[in-house]
Amino acid sequence: MDSNNDEMDGNNDEMDSNSSGMDKKRKKSGQESPIPTIQNDGGDNHDQRLPFINQPRISVPPPDTTAAPPFRQRRGRRNPSKTPPTGKSATIPPPYPWADAGRAAVRSLSYLRENQISRISGEVQCKKCEQKFKMELDLEQKFLEVSTFIAENKALMHHRAPKGWMSPALPKCGLCNQENTLRPVIAEKKRSINWLFLLLGQMLGCCTLDQLKYFCKHTKNHRTGAKDRVLFLAYLGLCRQLDPNGPFDI
Ligand SMILES: [Zn+2]
Repeated sequence: MDSNNDEMDGNNDEMDSNSSGMDKKRKKSGQESPIPTIQNDGGDNHDQRLPFINQPRISVPPPDTTAAPPFRQRRGRRNPSKTPPTGKSATIPPPYPWADAGRAAVRSLSYLRENQISRISGEVQCKKCEQKFKMELDLEQKFLEVSTFIAENKALMHHRAPKGWMSPALPKCGLCNQENTLRPVIAEKKRSINWLFLLLGQMLGCCTLDQLKYFCKHTKNHRTGAKDRVLFLAYLGLCRQLDPNGPFDI
């Protein structure tokens, strides 16, 4: 497999990222002064650090010296037996314990339960004081909130995200006490977006249209609609990945 090539072909999925600087950026974010962990579910006070933050192996795959030269051009003659239609590898190293190997793929609820993954963490940053926090969400509780809302309101949505999804109510900053200011820090590289955290926090609306289209593209919902339509698809699609038997058909 020419996996290196897959990351170098300039497909616009990753155009907004700088692959050569990615590792530095990731390290930089890990160097910040100790980041407090906060809870958003009113639960207990586990002070769990993020397991994935200190795993350099997930930031950049090591160079594969057995692969083809990374800068080999693939534009000329096509070799249909070797080149996937999208020019990208179908699988990626899962960026989080709750992510699956596919792009924009999360694990099912049954997998997460079997593996005792019950708290989903992500990074948020205050819009006012700019302090960053780790936030943990309770998987079962937050998924119940999202799925109940969908079950009760889907028929009224007409395939468009409601206002509460388009402009999510953000958590309050515990440092400067400003309401509605903790925005999720969304990975620059789309393959590293923390989709499950955004879903459970009902903060998918903080994604750009481009990021949401990336999700739809890799989950076989090719849509080029307005943001409210693509956002609706992202919510339903993620819920269906978690619970394929739930009321999440589109
Ligand atoms: Zn603040």
